[in-house]
Amino acid sequence: MSYSNPYNHPLPSYLQADHLGPWGIYLQQVDRVIPYLGHLARWAETLKRPKRALIVDVPIQLDNGTVAHFEGYRVQHNTSRGPGKGGVRFHQDVTLSEVMALSAWMSIKNAAVNVPYGGAKGGIRVDPKTLSRGELERMTRRYTSEIGIIIGPTKDIPAPDVNTNEQVMAWMMDTYSMNEGATSTGVVTGKPIDLGGSLGRREATGRGVFTVGVEAANHIGMDVSTARIAVQGFGNVGGIAGKLFAQAGARVVAVQDHGGTIYQEAGLDVPALLAHVAVAGTVAGFAKAEVISNDAFWDVDCDILIPAALEQQITAANAGRIKARLVIEGANGPTTPEADDILQERNILVLPDVIANAGGVTVSYFEWVQDFSSFFWSEDEINARLVRIMKEAFAGVWHLAQEHKVSLRTATFIMACKRILHARELRGLYP
Ligand code: NAD
Repeated sequence: MSYSNPYNHPLPSYLQADHLGPWGIYLQQVDRVIPYLGHLARWAETLKRPKRALIVDVPIQLDNGTVAHFEGYRVQHNTSRGPGKGGVRFHQDVTLSEVMALSAWMSIKNAAVNVPYGGAKGGIRVDPKTLSRGELERMTRRYTSEIGIIIGPTKDIPAPDVNTNEQVMAWMMDTYSMNEGATSTGVVTGKPIDLGGSLGRREATGRGVFTVGVEAANHIGMDVSTARIAVQGFGNVGGIAGKLFAQAGARVVAVQDHGGTIYQEAGLDVPALLAHVAVAGTVAGFAKAEVISNDAFWDVDCDILIPAALEQQITAANAGRIKARLVIEGANGPTTPEADDILQERNILVLPDVIANAGGVTVSYFEWVQDFSSFFWSEDEINARLVRIMKEAFAGVWHLAQEHKVSLRTATFIMACKRILHARELRGLYP
């Protein structure tokens, strides 16, 4: 059975690889690995189309009595290996194309660390900073209700992403449970501990970034305890990763977020910076640092660069200026394919998102398992299992990269695509 037959209609333009944006980038990444897929390549077309994409209207009453409409999305890219799994993003730039790409990267990531999930993602096109808490709650609940027809503990399990957190997950869990008539803790992960959340989940993505980052550094002979680090994005992922690297002795010399860029050659006081961000909502205004321009961030003298904000930040325009020898992608899709090539030519190792930030979904998987069994593990147990899975995944990817003489990103895609397509082949085509 093959998809490439003369009866296939051409893909619509927004599904094409030359379509600008994250989905086009994802398609180019898939195309690069098809030659390595052997007989499974005949199923590759399945990776190039989302299984299911839902657009929902989310109307809410604002505090001033008027009604505002927001556009929401939930995309299930692939469910061959298990239920859909992936976060929910609230951001003014969210588009269907972006959510499609993020859902596809979740399929790859979940297969790369071998958790039994497919890939999904959701989002609302909104700047949540403009909403009151009540408005945010109403929007979250209406969105959850609208996508309730396709999510569920065995169907598709959302989690936090940019601008969503434990509280948003609690509202989602409650709304779904109200509609179902039964408390259903397993419908989302990243919940508060008192609602079936898992110890270690909040720190999991940053801990994963740190764990595989240290592995990668060791493989290129870099000593993390003396490394200088630049971090873009100081939220859940960048903040925790920065903290763990600093605890390991590294100097976090520059941090950029939506409010600006700060620099301190001797190393920023990371605990003090985290405390400042918790109050101010941004690194801007932190007293014990120098302010530099956002553009100057890319010239900072450092050993490790951690993009942990949004997509398409490392581009052909700045990849030639980066001083780091190792880039650890905390964010999803931060490097464009052109930039990827430039970094590779310059011998800068890129630890790709689909492995580097997989710690979050790994502990989400632990949370889901704990919810189903109503039996909760200790934080030490969770962190030990997380570290083991991340190190195993890294070792597998490193080995594959050496074997095929390809980048770590292509190696991760090879490993993941083979797992997904093997599952696809075993299940067969319905009907
Ligand atoms: P977050 O909302 O906690 O933090 C986002 C950070 O990015 C903030 O510091 C914000 O100021 C910064 N930022 C926003 N716009 C920016 C801009 N234009 N320039 C510079 N900085 C900017 O989000 P998060 O959960 O830390 O997610 C960050 C990235 O990591 C996203 O790509 C997300 O998809 C990815 N990710 C998150 C998780 C998770 O568990 N939270 C898991 C895997 C991947």
